[in-house]
Amino acid sequence: MNGLMMHQQLLVSSLLTHAERHHAHTEVVSARCEGDLHRYTFRDLAHRSRQVAQAVRALGVGPGDRVATLAWNGHRHLELYYGVSGAGSVLHTLNPRLHPHQLAWIINNADDSVLCFDLTFVDLVREIAPRVPSVKKYVLLSDAEHLAAEWPADDPCDVTAYEDLVAAQDGDFTWPVLDEKQAASLCYTSGTTGHPKGVLYSHRSTVLHSYGAALPDSTGLSARDAVMPVVPMFHVNAWGIPYAACLTGAKLVLPGKDLSGASLTALQEAEGVTVSASVPTVWQGQLEHARANGTTLRSLQRAVIGGAACPTWMFRELRDVHGVRVIHGWGMTETSPLGAASVLKRSHEGLDREAQDAVLAKQGRPMFGVDLKITDDEGADLPWDGRTPGHLMVRGHWVASGYYPPGRPSPLMDGWFPTGDVATMDPEGFMQITDRSKDLIKSGGEWISSIEIENLAMDHPEVETAACIGVRHAKWDERPILVAVRRRGSTLTAAALLGSFAGKIAKWCVPDDAVFVDALPMGATGKILKASLRKRYQEHLTQE
Ligand code: ADP
Repeated sequence: MNGLMMHQQLLVSSLLTHAERHHAHTEVVSARCEGDLHRYTFRDLAHRSRQVAQAVRALGVGPGDRVATLAWNGHRHLELYYGVSGAGSVLHTLNPRLHPHQLAWIINNADDSVLCFDLTFVDLVREIAPRVPSVKKYVLLSDAEHLAAEWPADDPCDVTAYEDLVAAQDGDFTWPVLDEKQAASLCYTSGTTGHPKGVLYSHRSTVLHSYGAALPDSTGLSARDAVMPVVPMFHVNAWGIPYAACLTGAKLVLPGKDLSGASLTALQEAEGVTVSASVPTVWQGQLEHARANGTTLRSLQRAVIGGAACPTWMFRELRDVHGVRVIHGWGMTETSPLGAASVLKRSHEGLDREAQDAVLAKQGRPMFGVDLKITDDEGADLPWDGRTPGHLMVRGHWVASGYYPPGRPSPLMDGWFPTGDVATMDPEGFMQITDRSKDLIKSGGEWISSIEIENLAMDHPEVETAACIGVRHAKWDERPILVAVRRRGSTLTAAALLGSFAGKIAKWCVPDDAVFVDALPMGATGKILKASLRKRYQEHLTQE
């Protein structure tokens, strides 16, 4: 017997309709490329998103067709999030930090028909335009004045100013009732191995992910918060915050292109931001700024940190100096992205600081809707003892079942998605990443956790950031070395840094050497490019 309850499609547009009806006066604040601070409400957002939906249809973009964006976090990008998906087309966010060749490849692979871009990306778009024949229409995310000033009149591309497209519509549009399984948005993984792969989110997965992201032990967003996604709307939907803000009625503050510590901190203070989400390197910029100026992050209550491991010093400094609670999260493009968050359980409350910190340093436990397990090379389950590392497998309502375009072999193994991460699970269900499988270090047949070594290195007060990589070794096949960046003014030596590891890890796990560099190479999604470090330092120990 079926239950006698309504069945409603879970649609991206329904998030916006809720925000418009119940949080009409809640603000959306955007630092724009034009240099001004734009401010309006969820009611305005809803109206303009309907105008965008009309405009998209007027351009001839049909159901399922892809509309690409190259844009920072801002209100126009947000209107496209809702307008394009709400109309039944697919929003394809492009990562401007990728190489133009790679961007052109992705646009062609996705067969995008419209490309919307911020002022900052005029040169980039002009460079890739000749290589992307599927794009018939270009939209500059600004007004006619800026279009005239920035885009050469004799350029063959068909470019329109976004504000003109929007102004031509009246907003009298009813969101179509789509099948919730339809695609809403598309994001390519950064493709550290092989070509990038498209992850195609559905309306249903997006709405369920928003619930999961807002739960008290995830970001805990509410209508009393002001949330700032510093994580880009051009990669994995800014961790779902643009949707979760409408679901909860949290004020949304969009920081635009200036992600310096000074700029982010000033905007947070001015707008009373209570929750902010970024990768560790961006938080580092904010903390450095605070240290240099002797200030604290006054309005912030919670810091969501993920994309790469949050070093222990970082969550301690945020908590002890700034009074900010860190939510260390784990996820990937294929998991929408939130998969787990590290928030203490009741059973941890009696533990001392040190023991609590050890739990918080983990990547956390899955929220309802996501399931995790670890397996050995043959796919057999491994114990949750907090020690045994295995291949991390994930499944759930917002986990990818395959890649776009369809037709590739399924990545799933027995219905689970292999993350490529290596992790332990403890008896309380907390997962801890020890490595990316491609970054594993195997020395004399034993695995060494690069993340554990990096965390220890970054605990040293004179180390800014560090990467541990495996390099060739005559006797042990591979040995770990550290590549580190010292804090400003430090004269720390390799011997002193490595000496500080004594007693903290097994002797054979201590890296053979540490080299200091001015900066580590970073990828397009805020991760250290270990492959390029490995290439550079491959023979570091054999040469010596
Ligand atoms: P890509 O596009 O390269 O797949 P993603 O942005 O999807 O990149 O990143 C996913 C990967 O990032 C995860 O599989 C994991 O290796 C790493 N990652 C994410 N969050 C964390 C974290 N909190 N700690 C350690 N690694 C993390």
